[in-house]
Amino acid sequence: MTHPILGLHHVTATVDDAQDDLDFCIDLLGLRLVKKTVNFDNHHVYHFYYGDEQGTPGTLWTTFPYKGKGVPVGEHGAGQIVATSFSVPAGSLPFWRTRLESRGAQVVTGRARFSDQCLALRDPSGLVFELIEAAEDQRTGWQSTIGPEAAIRGLHSVSMVVRTPGPTVEFMTSVLGFEVVAEADGRIRMGVGGRGAGHLIDVLHDERATPAKNGLGTVHHVAMAIDSEDQQLQLRQDLLDREWKVTEVRDRQYFKSIYFREPGGVLFEVATLRPGFAVDEPLRSLGRDLKLPPWEEPHRTDIEAGLPDITYA
Ligand code: ZN
Repeated sequence: MTHPILGLHHVTATVDDAQDDLDFCIDLLGLRLVKKTVNFDNHHVYHFYYGDEQGTPGTLWTTFPYKGKGVPVGEHGAGQIVATSFSVPAGSLPFWRTRLESRGAQVVTGRARFSDQCLALRDPSGLVFELIEAAEDQRTGWQSTIGPEAAIRGLHSVSMVVRTPGPTVEFMTSVLGFEVVAEADGRIRMGVGGRGAGHLIDVLHDERATPAKNGLGTVHHVAMAIDSEDQQLQLRQDLLDREWKVTEVRDRQYFKSIYFREPGGVLFEVATLRPGFAVDEPLRSLGRDLKLPPWEEPHRTDIEAGLPDITYA
């Protein structure tokens, strides 16, 4: 039995400095901050959500800025997402290269894969981002300072590293409904709910890869989208029936989530589409105020006092 996974929902990373993260994601990449909240598992750390105007699932990049909290720098390796790729319009990479280089970002031509044109860069924490031209992507993205000819349209894909691809591909296919879209050079492209941007996970396989370590500058997990809470519960039950470890359903305020690891060790989340980011503030002012879930609201004064100062437009 497979489950109706719709595509990617969000990607979440541990980063270093909150202000650097805001500057990078808003000013440089042109993403919209669609929610400023706290880590629900540690309310002295921000949780930033970036995306398109509404924070549509499939456009979301989210960060926990852990500077000064004793979290070591992480190590990239097996059992981890090692690159997060965003979809940009065909022909826009020269614009991006000029923009990124003029602002001091370290840009390299991305590792070629299939027919994709790709630029790669690192964020201030050392995370690897890629911009991939996807002519067929019809999403509009957030157009604040960057026009429609170049604005990021949402997530394109993530690349994860495993040592042995067989069990991972089997799990993603038989449980989550992925299909193998393409394969080349140690890279197996898996698609779910579609075969284009926003629906893809590239499984990189390398028997000699050293195990990843979570920490600053590493992706924590990738989330896939599912339409309803009922479907999420069915998936959860199916995982339990397979004697697979899965968390209880967690209320993330803007969606509900379950978490489990695929056989290669990468942390997967499956999140619902609703209620979305306009549930606690108007669409026009998303990201302006610190929003807390009801169970954290009584601690607001303490929480605000413990968070770093930040500014952003
Ligand atoms: Zn998540």
